Amino acid sequence: MTWDYLIVGAGFAGAVLAERLASQRGATCLVVDRRNHIGGNAYDRFDSAGVLIHPYGPHYFRTNSQRIVDYLSQFTEWRAVEYRVLSWTKGAFWQFPINLNTFEQFIGRPSTSEEMERTLAEWRIPITNPQNSEEVILSQVGRPLYELRLPPDATIVAIIREGHVVIPQPETVITDGDEVLALTVPEAESALRSAVLGEGDAP
Ligand SMILES: Cc1cc2nc3c(=O)[nH]c(=O)nc-3n(C[C@H](O)[C@H](O)[C@H](O)COP(=O)(O)OP(=O)(O)OC[C@H]3O[C@@H](n4cnc5c(N)ncnc54)[C@H](O)[C@@H]3O)c2cc1C
Repeated sequence: MTWDYLIVGAGFAGAVLAERLASQRGATCLVVDRRNHIGGNAYDRFDSAGVLIHPYGPHYFRTNSQRIVDYLSQFTEWRAVEYRVLSWTKGAFWQFPINLNTFEQFIGRPSTSEEMERTLAEWRIPITNPQNSEEVILSQVGRPLYELRLPPDATIVAIIREGHVVIPQPETVITDGDEVLALTVPEAESALRSAVLGEGDAP
């Protein structure tokens, strides 16, 4: 069998290219991927407990382009959701990525960009050629805010409390009996458990 095009990679780019070539030009395409699934980094699957997981990190769709919505609507239905990305550490949810709200939460009172900038200038650790993400963050915001971080690629999306779904707010505190829904990559799972449950707690 022969194909008009060989497309390497079945992620967004390869899949859309193959669809366009096939539907708009009537071309035949062979799409190959070194992974055993389509979707590239946006791939999701159900785990053994029936939970939809994103092995390469959580993905959600947002756009201000009606053209893109129209295109994708040919292939999918939509589920409207509202995302609030917060990080849980040190007994509270924090705005993340670090911004003025995070700083105000940290110092416990309203502030200004100017005060934040002055404070960060004192906290920053000069590292001219950062070698890893820790050094990058230390050089940008210093140790106090660096130590607030969750593991990379970890997000708490909801808490189930007394049978109800609670979307985490900055003031939300996890209490005994809460079930916490978190998204993360396998490598960050134990660090996420430690951050949420406390060092040494049972999973
Ligand atoms: C943690 C994380 C969160 C993200 N969140 C979002 C989000 O919320 N919303 C959003 O829109 N985007 C998000 N993105 C970005 C999104 O994943 C990428 O924009 C998108 O996957 C890029 O698609 P792509 O086809 O270019 O590449 P990829 O998805 O990387 O696909 C490339 C494919 O090519 C294959 N491949 C590469 N080289 C070869 C080779 N030599 N032979 C065979 N196969 C090969 C790879 O295996 C892979 O499957 C996120 C990315 C990450 C990592």
